[in-house]
Amino acid sequence: MQEERLDCYLTMNVRDIYYLTGFQDIPGASLSLIVPARDEVTLLTRPLSFDAATAQATDCTVKGLALGENLSDGLVQELKSSTQKRLGYDDLPLQIYLRLATSLQGVELVPTSLVINQRRVKDTDEVALIRRACKLADAGVEAALEAIRAGTREYEVAAQAEYAMRRSGSSGFAFETLVASGPRSAYPHGVCSDREIKQGDLVIVDLGAVWKGYCSDITRTVTVGSPSLKNKRLLELIQEAHDKVLNEIRPGVEAADVDAVARKVVGEDCARYFIHGLGHGIGLDIHEAPTLSQTSRDVLEAGNVVTDEPGMYFPGYGGVRIEDTILITSKGAEKLTGASYPTFPQ
Ligand code: ZN
Ligand code: ZN
Repeated sequence: MQEERLDCYLTMNVRDIYYLTGFQDIPGASLSLIVPARDEVTLLTRPLSFDAATAQATDCTVKGLALGENLSDGLVQELKSSTQKRLGYDDLPLQIYLRLATSLQGVELVPTSLVINQRRVKDTDEVALIRRACKLADAGVEAALEAIRAGTREYEVAAQAEYAMRRSGSSGFAFETLVASGPRSAYPHGVCSDREIKQGDLVIVDLGAVWKGYCSDITRTVTVGSPSLKNKRLLELIQEAHDKVLNEIRPGVEAADVDAVARKVVGEDCARYFIHGLGHGIGLDIHEAPTLSQTSRDVLEAGNVVTDEPGMYFPGYGGVRIEDTILITSKGAEKLTGASYPTFPQ
């Protein structure tokens, strides 16, 4: 805040507020954390969140709006005493932004990346939580792979995976569980449908668990029955790209160069089928900084938790993706998800 010459910082992002105060509310809850450069930090809540916030939030004073009081009125009132010059924010709802711009006369609204950037590097407590979330995802993916057989529907596979994760303690899911079989596996975001899985299909299972707010992310691709020569070759190629990244990723390397490592293994002929970035940062959000893609300008550092997920997708035919959640350490990388890779009869 000093570097940006801010006299106050405002966030309404529930995950940032959990990160800064330890109070976890549901996505979409109306919370405002007001961080003045000098005075005490205030967490402004609606009446329904007040008691929970008072019990859980640390390092701040919790204030509740009155029942029926308009959120933006209350926020403007509170900010008038906290900011006179430069109010920083990472992201704000547009309506709130417009209201603040008109109501806080003489105050400049300054876009920043203060919390986004802090969240890139995980401390040991955060890594422990992500590690646990990864174990839950392993349980989910193993249950899914066990459920996959000809005649089973995609949603039944997803249900088994989610049940296994829930039973092990996952608080919801990091994102909608993806089970995409046959030609649908060519959709990288193929949420599960009622399609019946068939012999010879490629099936992609991509899922994530959540432990105390922290996410995990894992993908495995299998074939139902022995793979055709083509599918076997595809699976081997993507596994090779994935493993090569794991060997070469370390602090100080540019994320775009790591992406290039995977793309090089895939080769020029197949490059056009690798239609997404290699990976993404993961933490309280399923997608956060840093980004591993061709256009990324991020440089990796120890404490980043990112995914390594090369994939290829052939429209009308199917796709292959292998993904693990990994921790960048001072020496290189540690794989946090541990589910085995399916092996196939020769
Ligand atoms: Zn994933
Ligand atoms: Zn991912």
